[in-house]
Amino acid sequence: MPEQTIRSTRHRLAILDAATKLAQLGLNRGTAGNISVRWDEGFLITPSGMPPNTVHPEDIVAMDMEGAAQGRRAPSSEWRFHRDIYAARPEVGAVVHCHPSFCVSLAVLHKSIPPYHYMVAKGGGRDIRCAAYATFGTQELSNHAVAALEDRKACLLANHGMIAVGRSLASAVALAVEVEELAEGYWRALQLGEPVLLDDDEMDRVLEKFATYGENAQAAAGIGV
Ligand code: 13P
Ligand code: ZN
Repeated sequence: MPEQTIRSTRHRLAILDAATKLAQLGLNRGTAGNISVRWDEGFLITPSGMPPNTVHPEDIVAMDMEGAAQGRRAPSSEWRFHRDIYAARPEVGAVVHCHPSFCVSLAVLHKSIPPYHYMVAKGGGRDIRCAAYATFGTQELSNHAVAALEDRKACLLANHGMIAVGRSLASAVALAVEVEELAEGYWRALQLGEPVLLDDDEMDRVLEKFATYGENAQAAAGIGV
């Protein structure tokens, strides 16, 4: 089998594993969410409207940067924001989109996640922004998502869900889990009162520490953030 085909199969299986994991963790239910991995001159993306447990490796769709699709299924309706994130962010190797409960709860209020906890820096900056609302699957939503992700690795989507990106699929999935945990912590704190926020200097210190934090583990797992 040509090396290119073997690598594509590996990516397809990794996408299915990731979709199953997100479903098992409760970050996505039914047909919610989608996943892609940068591939060749474009990317591989989950098919539209299929629950993860019904998807076979051959159902994953290959797309180029013009939006042309190759495969036996229609690509995720959100292929535009996947494509535009890869175009805008050369370092990104994988994009994960979910509808997890606590992210959705905040996104319904159009609330960003402020620096209420130092781990917010895992999103790449001092906060995790909430992108403005636009209809799912539209170019307008993609534009809002790319803007909210500027200098960030995650964002919420108003009245919709969240996006996490990473150099690898493993790091994008791990970040999606962490962002939902952060959304839950913030949501719970809001029930009790006004969360005390960390200031810019402190968040900048944390961001600097995160630049090298966990390097040993990432090297061992071969995942890099
Ligand atoms: P797809 O099944 O088309 O990927 O759509 C799911 C979704 O989450 C749309 O925002
Ligand atoms: Zn969605």
